[in-house]
Amino acid sequence: YRRLVIALGDQLSTRLPSLKGFDKSRDAVWMAEVSEESVHTWSSKTRIVLFLSAMRHFRDELRQKGYVVRYKEFSEGSLSTLLEDFLAKNEVDEVHLVRPGEHRLLVNLSESCSSTQTPLRLHEDTSFYSTPADFEDHARGRKQLRMEFFYREMRRKHQVLMDGKNPRGGEWNFDSQNRKAFPRSGPELLPPRKRFPPDDTTNAVIKLVNEKLPNHPGTCEDFDWPVTREQGLAALQNFIQDELARFGKHQDAMWAGEPFLHHSLISSSLNLHLIDADEAVSAAEHAYNEGLAPIESVEGFIRQILGWREYVRGIYWSYMPEYLERNAFEAELDLPDFFWTGNTEYNCLRDTISQTLKFGYAHHIQRLMVTGLYCLLLGVHPKKVHQWYLSVYVDAVEWVELPNTLGMSQFADGSVMASKPYVATGQYIKRMSNYCSGCRFDPTKRTGSDACPFTTLYWDFLTKHRVKLHSNPRMRMQLRNLDRIDTAELQQISLQAAAIREQRELTT
Ligand code: FAD
Ligand code: SF4
Repeated sequence: YRRLVIALGDQLSTRLPSLKGFDKSRDAVWMAEVSEESVHTWSSKTRIVLFLSAMRHFRDELRQKGYVVRYKEFSEGSLSTLLEDFLAKNEVDEVHLVRPGEHRLLVNLSESCSSTQTPLRLHEDTSFYSTPADFEDHARGRKQLRMEFFYREMRRKHQVLMDGKNPRGGEWNFDSQNRKAFPRSGPELLPPRKRFPPDDTTNAVIKLVNEKLPNHPGTCEDFDWPVTREQGLAALQNFIQDELARFGKHQDAMWAGEPFLHHSLISSSLNLHLIDADEAVSAAEHAYNEGLAPIESVEGFIRQILGWREYVRGIYWSYMPEYLERNAFEAELDLPDFFWTGNTEYNCLRDTISQTLKFGYAHHIQRLMVTGLYCLLLGVHPKKVHQWYLSVYVDAVEWVELPNTLGMSQFADGSVMASKPYVATGQYIKRMSNYCSGCRFDPTKRTGSDACPFTTLYWDFLTKHRVKLHSNPRMRMQLRNLDRIDTAELQQISLQAAAIREQRELTT
């Protein structure tokens, strides 16, 4: 072949820059499903089904359009060994690769090319607004990185939600209006979520996963995620029409038994390249121009994509591979077993983990302030937390999952991503959800048999890390509250926290 274009499992787009200038008579696309990718990342069944089904749909689309696709169905080995083998057996003038979503793959695939002396051409991923080099330009000379400044730069540069030089609506950021809880009666009636039931291709993949990977967590029975571009676009359109207007106000709210609420559910379609970031951003801006959604919803949604999504990618490529090893609080514990079953008395954790294993989905605040917060307060090793998040979510690709988990949620990167650790007692969960009303624990209590574990562990966390946290001005208020607790109670808290860590019930 004159050119071999690699399309990885999360690069399912005919708009890939590596396909520009593709000559159907002399070039080929190379794709492979490998067992190592499901095992290296101990993937849930839902996540594996999504990736494999979307890959097969993309292969079929390419073939229908006349592309030659060299496709390897579920095989033993790693992507790099399969590629090396292919390059050794076929004449390939040049390999074309778009920057992968994982540092490890970039290294391994580059080595496969160099060991077979095949030139490799790396393309930047044009489905994002920014490149890693743009982020480095932004970061150069700054003492501290903050998403807000990067986001404003992106808004100006790409003229998104702008009136000339000024932000539309008069403010850059409407975050303060994005944190409302639902009323006691709960969310308004939610319109039915757009579903994409399995077709023959997806059913074949479900059968394969059940046969070959029966012990992986999660289930395939409820699978209905978008697996084609057409479906990804339909999911986006459905969100813009039915949910965007209500998205902003309750972005951080949670409700038991309601896994999706007003969220867009487009992260997996974006991350697999079924749809592009600018398509989601333009659709939301258009809705604002048409008067279909208020500014706090539109800005809130656009900030997640043009701001956070681009920002975490910049962090990933700037700090990898050493980022993976960071552990600022020297946390060492294993993940509690119930993270793989949802089998726990803690209502908030049971609901969040159960929906995660069932659908491969939880929304941002559930990930940050329920599962993530619990791991941080308990002291779980950040790499183990990272491995869990990378396994269980349908949208999990390392470039986006790792900075969110290790940086934003575990603060293990020591303030690269966030200016302070996201720590709170169970009272936060009570304020933002109805989880606590059905729970046998009491979020106001820090000791005693009905004390909420979040509350006990929060005070213990502040005590344990007091010295480290002291230098952070944003933690002063929380530490001042800690100083108000007397020594005897602090000792009691510490004993109770130790008991939770040993997964024992405290009998007082
Ligand atoms: P919505 O709430 O509707 O938001 C719209 C879009 O904004 C999302 O589709 C997503 O593309 C983007 N977005 C929102 N928040 C973030 C963020 N913090 N970082 C990057 N993009 C964001 N997102 C992933 O795409 N993959 C992951 O593996 C992932 N892991 C996470 C792990 C932790 C610990 C935390 C706290 C967050 C993680 N996120 C991850 C971010 C966020 O939780 C998900 O993007 C979001 O919940 C996806 O659901 P949605 O499409 O309904 O999003
Ligand atoms: Fe979660 Fe504590 Fe509330 Fe129970 S009381 S739901 S454990 S925050």
